[in-house]
Amino acid sequence: MTTKKIIFCKKCLYTNLHPFSITFNNDGICSGCLIHEEKDNLDWNLRLQKLKKIVKPYKSKTRKNYDCIVPVTGANDSHFIVHIVKNVLGMNPLLVNYNKYFNTPIGVSNLANLRIKFDLDILFKNVNMNSVKKITKFTLLEHQNVYWPILAGHTVFPLEVAKNYKIPLIIWGAHQGLEQVGMFSHEHEVEMSRRYRENHDLFGMEAQDLITIDSDLTEEDISQFVYPDDKSINEIGIRGIYLGNYIRWDPTSQHQLMVKKYGYKSCQLPRTFDTYDHVDCYNYMNLHDILKISKRGYSKITDHVCREIRHKRLTREQGIDLINYYEHKKPENLDKFCDWLEIDPNSLALVLNKSKNDKYWIQEDINRFKFIGPSTYFKTTNNNEINNDIKSILDKEFVKNRDINLNRENKEYILFGKGVGRLYE
Ligand SMILES: [Zn+2]
Repeated sequence: MTTKKIIFCKKCLYTNLHPFSITFNNDGICSGCLIHEEKDNLDWNLRLQKLKKIVKPYKSKTRKNYDCIVPVTGANDSHFIVHIVKNVLGMNPLLVNYNKYFNTPIGVSNLANLRIKFDLDILFKNVNMNSVKKITKFTLLEHQNVYWPILAGHTVFPLEVAKNYKIPLIIWGAHQGLEQVGMFSHEHEVEMSRRYRENHDLFGMEAQDLITIDSDLTEEDISQFVYPDDKSINEIGIRGIYLGNYIRWDPTSQHQLMVKKYGYKSCQLPRTFDTYDHVDCYNYMNLHDILKISKRGYSKITDHVCREIRHKRLTREQGIDLINYYEHKKPENLDKFCDWLEIDPNSLALVLNKSKNDKYWIQEDINRFKFIGPSTYFKTTNNNEINNDIKSILDKEFVKNRDINLNRENKEYILFGKGVGRLYE
């Protein structure tokens, strides 16, 4: 049973149970919505000028080295970030990609598109798959988490490259803590930090914490995920800045622009209306999202809905309908995950049962759980269908390449670096 009284934001659909620190003002509006209002009040022209000033000293005068590092994937905001860095800031970035191994064909295609259309150099990191599998198995069984190695790798590899190539500036997109729960003001201009990475990106688990008496992980297995020490960070003066502090961040409009301008590819995913985010991964919106609702009581659909409500493209009521519609949709591609990790689907089912947080689920039978999470407090007239008003908004805002169906496309992950998958052309 829920021990804490649930408080819902009056504007969006986040609650005080959000895992990041969220606060509410006297009118019942959450900190995320309050900080979001800055987007309509700040002088973004002025802020862009400030960004230009910040990056100027990092531009290589001799053009012998790269100006900065941009971590990229085949989805998320990568196209837009690179577009800003190259075309607006006039920089010559080195792109870096941590291979997450759960690659979809559309993700591989988007990554190739990014490299070709912007004509930039890219470095890939393919950590040996045995270590990745060992770590994934451990974090799945012990922490019901399959994304730890990906988040750890994605946040460490750029620093390694910064260190080795002596490129001090890393440029990221938006700061998740600021965007979701207003952890900082845009004007704080918060930068990348070891502590935020550990507490929020990595769920409080550093690489070294994985070596316990219960795990058969070795120093060698985790070595690729260890954050560099302060001494080497300070020697080179490595810093990571977030574009979202200087540019009015709106992922949906940004993706629309990238589809038009550069042919970014999008597709329908089973558990959200957002056709742009996470299309590069077979698990993020499936297994990872199911574990999220098991443990946290809400899933990615709530994040997407809150974002759209704040940008005034959906009303709170439409958001409620969408959460009801998507929140308990069946995940797909679990078989691919079991094949890859070489585990029995029954073991995965056991882990999924174990992951159910009793704050949000009541066990009724061996394999039957009743959900009592935040969305069960919503009053809705929706009969598990999306009405035409909502459909037409979604069709307009979230275009998709209709020929792309992730289930039909591939039986396995595309393990590039270990073999090449077919690309859309
Ligand atoms: Zn809110």
